[in-house]
Amino acid sequence: MTLIQVSNLKKSFGTNEVLKQISFSMDKNEVIAMIGPSGSGKSTLLRSLINLEQIDGGSIQIDNEYLVKDGIYVKADDIKRVTGKMGMVFQHFNLFPHLTVKQNLEMAPKLLNIQAAQEIENHAKDLLEKVGLTEKSGSYPSSLSGGQKQRVAIARALMLNPDILLFDEPTSALDPELTGEVLKVMKDLAEESMTMIVVTHEMGFAREVADRVVFMDGGEIVETNNPQEFFSNPQHDRTKLFLQKNL
Ligand code: ADP
Ligand code: MG
Repeated sequence: MTLIQVSNLKKSFGTNEVLKQISFSMDKNEVIAMIGPSGSGKSTLLRSLINLEQIDGGSIQIDNEYLVKDGIYVKADDIKRVTGKMGMVFQHFNLFPHLTVKQNLEMAPKLLNIQAAQEIENHAKDLLEKVGLTEKSGSYPSSLSGGQKQRVAIARALMLNPDILLFDEPTSALDPELTGEVLKVMKDLAEESMTMIVVTHEMGFAREVADRVVFMDGGEIVETNNPQEFFSNPQHDRTKLFLQKNL
């Protein structure tokens, strides 16, 4: 079952053509590791999926519903419903500093106002347990390590029960000794069949956890393959060059 379908996506910032006719699709339960040099358009692509960037042309379908069709966006209510199927985790956590961990988790569902308070509270409790942070429920983000903050951000992204999780370099801002605890949570999610796109420089994670690697360079998807083939038998010169520098 296809959960994401992108066709001929184009995006420029001024005269800088950042995404050049990108097309790809993704199945339910798939884990994609998206890799590529800085400036290749990875963040812009993820942000476009969740409508944090507006695209200039092409189509995006999530779970068989259009977000944008041939460059025309669906109406505001439909945009909300479609993007609501996804959660996103950012490099710099983006937690609300004036709210406790628990309040960070409960904010979005409370605003949506479709679940009982007790239900929201129980869900937050379960998710904090899942990411190993039960005892930090009442703490403020400033008192947490980077790894703990990112685990809170993941739990928060799960609060609305997304069908798809998008991660934009979730471990790039962390001290090396803290990346493992975050990658572990992501690996657990993958094992529970969460559908995920992970933009990452962690080649070990891509190799071990991803079903498919997508390599971007210069605003294009240059190559995509299963990790085994991708790393042992890269096809394109640009991929080979990137792997020489990054493995
Ligand atoms: P990556 O995530 O692969 O490093 P990005 O998607 O962040 O790449 O950036 C792709 C290109 O788009 C870069 O040239 C970057 O400078 C440019 N860019 C990204 N965001 C903006 C923005 N908000 N305004 C102008 N240019 C941007
Ligand atoms: Mg980026």
